[in-house]
Amino acid sequence: MKYNYTIEDALAALRRTMHLIRSSTPITAFPFDCAASSDIRTGYIDGRSVRRLVITLRAPGCAWVARSGGCTMCGHYAGTTRGVMPSSDEYVRQFQRELALYDHHDIDVISIYNSGSMLNQDEVGYSALHKIFEYIHNHTSAKKIVLESRAEYIDSTVIESLLDILGPKRRLSIAIGLETFDDTIRLLCINKGCTTAQIERAVGSVKGLVDIQLYVLLGMPFLAEREALENTVKSLQCARKLGADEIHIEPLTLQRFTLAEILYHEGLLQLPSLYTLYEALRTVVPVIQPYVSPFHHMPRPDIIPQGCPRCTERLIDGLLNRYNINRNRENLEYEPCVCLGNWKKRLEKTDDRPLPQRIIDVLEKVNFGNYGI
Ligand code: SF4
Ligand SMILES: [Zn+2]
Repeated sequence: MKYNYTIEDALAALRRTMHLIRSSTPITAFPFDCAASSDIRTGYIDGRSVRRLVITLRAPGCAWVARSGGCTMCGHYAGTTRGVMPSSDEYVRQFQRELALYDHHDIDVISIYNSGSMLNQDEVGYSALHKIFEYIHNHTSAKKIVLESRAEYIDSTVIESLLDILGPKRRLSIAIGLETFDDTIRLLCINKGCTTAQIERAVGSVKGLVDIQLYVLLGMPFLAEREALENTVKSLQCARKLGADEIHIEPLTLQRFTLAEILYHEGLLQLPSLYTLYEALRTVVPVIQPYVSPFHHMPRPDIIPQGCPRCTERLIDGLLNRYNINRNRENLEYEPCVCLGNWKKRLEKTDDRPLPQRIIDVLEKVNFGNYGI
């Protein structure tokens, strides 16, 4: 069979769709002085697991959404102020209020997110960031602060100014979404719009100043399960090669108002199996020891990867409450379940079509009108 579509054709169709999905996402009015969410997760300092507080600020939203429609699996947009920036004082109040909900004396790591890039001045001004860092310096005993950002906003001068505020006893970590080692997959399956080379340059510009945390996505639209598995293993290896001090594996979940959610409901996408996640980890541990992102991240997903009703809970418990603590091979053992045969069959399925063809075929099958788009 002859396939005619180019990467440009597929990308144009994908971005058109992503913009339509964003423009039909319901608008909610949020108070500007309350953060979007916070929770306690596992963090690491020199490989040792510690308590980590994650605070997501209420913010204007990721600039990449305005430019390109944003990433196919990302549902942050619905929880943003749609381009309106809280003042510095409002940002500081958000942070203080959320921190006050916790006894933060035994919290060693604080991750501060904004549903976008903390280092993009148009999302969080430097004055707000500086004030938040001064507050951390004066009022917490956290040893490490983590900021998420797209690679293009990472600027060593800004990083140095933040380090000056934190002082010599605290570390700063910058978290970047690598997602995959493969530029075409990152572009067409995620619409992420940056390259591995750009991420490598950003990492190189601040290596030695800060710790680097890279995110790798397991499972994405338009990929078969076997491809997703192989892609994740290579991406974890790539993250290590890029010099990541910490690697997070983020299994695809379904967030509301995303292309991934629509494709799932149309039967055009399956979430990765928990067995695929175990398999990816078993392939790389202990040489690489990725942290498994918990399935209750923000925005709260509606549906998460599973095994079958018999084994799902056990598998998730094994990942989050055992593997994530020690990150060793023994904690990746599991009792075989009757559903394992289904997973193996799923791994055998292939798709011969090139990615641009898959994308056009899939998007043409969806009646977006059913989703108010
Ligand atoms: S995944 Fe990150 S870069 Fe992509 S749209 Fe969401 S916040 Fe922006
Ligand atoms: Zn099962």
